[in-house]
Amino acid sequence: MRILVVSTPVGPLGSGRGGGVELTATALVAGLLGRGHQVTVLAPEGSQLAVACAGARLWCVAGEFQPSCQHQEQNDQIVIPADGVLAHLWRRALAEQAGFEVILNLAYDWLPLWLTPHTQTPLAHLVSMGSVGKAIDSQIAEISRLCPEHLAFHTASQAADFDLAQPPRLVGNGFDLTRYNFVAKPLQQLGWAGRIAPEKGLEDGAWVAAQLGLPLHVWGYREDGAYADAVEASVPPGTICWRGFLATELLQAELGRCLLLLNTPKWNEAFGNVLVEAMACGVPVAAYARGGPAELVQEGLNGALCPHDDRQALVAAARRAMAVDRASCRAWVEQHASQAAFAARIEAWLEGLACRD
Ligand code: UDP
Repeated sequence: MRILVVSTPVGPLGSGRGGGVELTATALVAGLLGRGHQVTVLAPEGSQLAVACAGARLWCVAGEFQPSCQHQEQNDQIVIPADGVLAHLWRRALAEQAGFEVILNLAYDWLPLWLTPHTQTPLAHLVSMGSVGKAIDSQIAEISRLCPEHLAFHTASQAADFDLAQPPRLVGNGFDLTRYNFVAKPLQQLGWAGRIAPEKGLEDGAWVAAQLGLPLHVWGYREDGAYADAVEASVPPGTICWRGFLATELLQAELGRCLLLLNTPKWNEAFGNVLVEAMACGVPVAAYARGGPAELVQEGLNGALCPHDDRQALVAAARRAMAVDRASCRAWVEQHASQAAFAARIEAWLEGLACRD
């Protein structure tokens, strides 16, 4: 197939602003290339493709980044800036659609969802978040009634947020495991990774680290600086060790040295890339049982779970997670989250769509 992948308008690929969607895009594009498809990526100006995606064509479009939907309230209206890159991306996608058998949208935005029944080339959506507001919920509900095969979700917990007319298509996620090295002997440090933003609950991770008397190494894009400062001030000095936003090669090397990863979502996390990345390095995960993490963490096999927002229970889960065999974390990921298996699932989905329309 000739596939047009449209990336998120919240920032350039490679910048970190797109959160987990950026890594998903890499796995998906590399995996589809590996299966012999021709892939073009349409993304905001400044985007860079990972080395593994060198076989894809990259089209970049300028314009103001789209404000992220992550911090919306239920009744918020849809906002599109005057010179918004979102509109420019979709103008280009529509102009070029005849050259493709299918368009795959990775952006969590109203406009591409609304376009679904109006394109000549089938438009598929890999939905990257749970519900954040009624405007997008209603579009997803409508597509689910009109043409449900155009939607896919990462996890059952995420899909359960939406009013779907059919059981959801679940595709999980995939990782190029050759990029993650197994580390058998960790250092005396805990890890936390993700966008530094309130919905990720870093304050609970910091509190748990302080209780355990271990430093918490933190990696991720600093989306909300005031929030980051407040978290740091809430724990004894030296508890948090800021490591910045690192490329995957560096991130995995540092992450692999941790005793465990703490994962503390305050929202219905759609998947949770960083959990799988940690496990791929042999790092067990102690997580709140909320959203994707509740489906990824298998008690005793790759980590430990506890009720969400219960910090004391997370301390206990962290102690249990530290006893988990690191080799079994890596083995679980190889079995359940490989790039190859993910690409095969995406291919099966897109082929069904491209053939039928
Ligand atoms: N990440 C990264 N470098 C860092 C920290 C994080 O590349 O130093 C990436 C990580 O690989 C993951 C993403 O940031 O893909 C965070 O995604 P996640 O699914 O955890 O949450 P999201 O930000 O999408 O809500």
